[in-house]
Amino acid sequence: MSQDKNIRIIETYLSVQGEGMHAGLPCFFIRTAVCDIRCSWCDTPQALGNGPSISFEDLLARVPTSVRLIQITGGEPLVQKDQVIALCEALHARGKKILLETGGHRSLDGIPDYVHIVMDIKLPGSGQAHHPFEKNFEWLKKSDEIKFVIQDRIDFDAALSWIRSHNLENVCHLLLSPVWGSVAPATLTQWLLEENIDARMQIQLHKIIWGANATGV
Ligand code: SF4
Repeated sequence: MSQDKNIRIIETYLSVQGEGMHAGLPCFFIRTAVCDIRCSWCDTPQALGNGPSISFEDLLARVPTSVRLIQITGGEPLVQKDQVIALCEALHARGKKILLETGGHRSLDGIPDYVHIVMDIKLPGSGQAHHPFEKNFEWLKKSDEIKFVIQDRIDFDAALSWIRSHNLENVCHLLLSPVWGSVAPATLTQWLLEENIDARMQIQLHKIIWGANATGV
C-alpha cells in the first residue's frame, strides 16, 4: 500500500464506540471530510465541507497501537472511496478491526470483505429517503449492520416497509436509533416490541456519557 496518498480528514480521536454491535468498546475514530447529501438531523455539520488534506503517513502515525477497533466515519467516507479503501488496507495490515460508517447512498462495491460495514437507510424525516439504498444490499455481509435513524412514526413505518419488503432481517444486523430529542426512546422501544421485528434498539452511548452536543468524543 502506498503511503504517499492524502485524505481529507476533519478529526481523529479516541473514545468508546457509541453505537451498534461494537458499542462500549474502545475505538479510534477517523472522521473524513465532505458529505454530498444533507440529512435534516445531521449531528456532524462540522464534517460536511472540505477539511484539511493530510498524508497517510501522518494519519497512520496518529492511530494508537493499543486500540484494535478503528471507525472510519464522516461526513461521507465514500466520497473519498479510493483513499478510504487504501486506508482500510493499511489499517488491516496493522491488525486493526475496521468499521466503515456510510450514509448508504453511495456504492459499497469494492469495499474489502474484512471491513465491517454500518450502512444507513435514510427515512423520510431525513429528507434523503429517495436514494437507491437497495443497490447496496448485495454488498452486505451477515455480520454487517443497517441503521435506521428514526424521527417519528412515519420514519418507523418506512423502516418496517424496508425490513419486510426486502427481508432485511436475513441480510444483516438491523439497528433502530432514535433522533436525539425527537422520538422518545421508550416510544421507539414500544413500537419495536409491538411489531416483533428482529432489530436492535440503540441509544447513542457517547451522547449519554458526554452530552448531546459534545464533539470529538
Ligand atoms: S450522511 Fe451523515 S454526514 Fe451526511 S448529512 Fe447525513 S448524517 Fe450528516
